[in-house]
Amino acid sequence: MTSDTLLETPGNLFVVAAPSGAGKSSLVKALLELDSHLSVSVSHTTRAPRGQEQDGREYWFISAPTFQDMVDRGEFLEWAEVHGNRYGTSRKGIESRLQAGEDIVLEIDYQGALQIKRLFPHAILIFILPPSWQELEQRLRRRGEDQPEVIAQRMVNAREEVAQARHFDFVIINALFETALFDLKTVVHSQRLKYAAQLRARSGVFQALDLA
Ligand code: GDP
Ligand code: ADP
Ligand code: 5GP
Repeated sequence: MTSDTLLETPGNLFVVAAPSGAGKSSLVKALLELDSHLSVSVSHTTRAPRGQEQDGREYWFISAPTFQDMVDRGEFLEWAEVHGNRYGTSRKGIESRLQAGEDIVLEIDYQGALQIKRLFPHAILIFILPPSWQELEQRLRRRGEDQPEVIAQRMVNAREEVAQARHFDFVIINALFETALFDLKTVVHSQRLKYAAQLRARSGVFQALDLA
């Protein structure tokens, strides 16, 4: 990591974490459809693909030895073991895209989110909470992608995960989907209204007002 990484980049880095089933992927997908200035980083994982998942779309699905090689070569910005599999954000592209002014979303677990905050202090950490434990379990069951024992493990891990929400900058409760999506859009929008961001985006207005 270069010291430049510690400086604020023109692009915003949003990090979204949640216990499995809280609605993180659905919310981020809906946000990306509404916001053409945002793109999501596709993580690498050692977990097997679920039914409809495609390599390079939801994840890069790689073997445990390949993952270890990438760790050894320093190719990950962050990585963590989650629910018995390894997940990592590839360094490739992220820093250059942020320097070029692109906004990026990372959909990662809390361990990764806290690593990213240390590397990029300006990263905006958003935690998605379910409205209740009962609703979380129902969503995991309704999604129908995981075996009952996997769901049981994710419910156990969820207790530890939600306890980390207090370290995040923003908390969104995903009870009504549209309300949570509005909240997520509001967080993204508010970052773009910060002085430094407006100065970059609306330099003509700042010049006309003798502010730049
Ligand atoms: P999900 O929880 O239903 O989204 O199931 P997944 O198997 O897709 O993800 C399991 C966990 O791994 C979730 O908490 C994800 O946020 C997390 N995760 C996914 N990609 C990454 C990554 O690149 N780094 C880290 N640290 N965690 C990740
Ligand atoms: P995550 O990525 O956090 O594991 P998903 O986005 O896959 O969660 O959502 C888990 C399940 O809950 C999916 O079947 C999704 O359609 C559903 N879901 C998401 N948000 C809501 C909501 N607000 N109300 C009801 N169901 C929801
Ligand atoms: P890029 O999309 O920039 O070419 O690659 C991003 C990351 O994905 C790199 O770390 C690269 O090694 C990895 N990658 C590229 N192509 C593939 C592929 O076909 N499968 C998998 N699993 N990973 C890939």
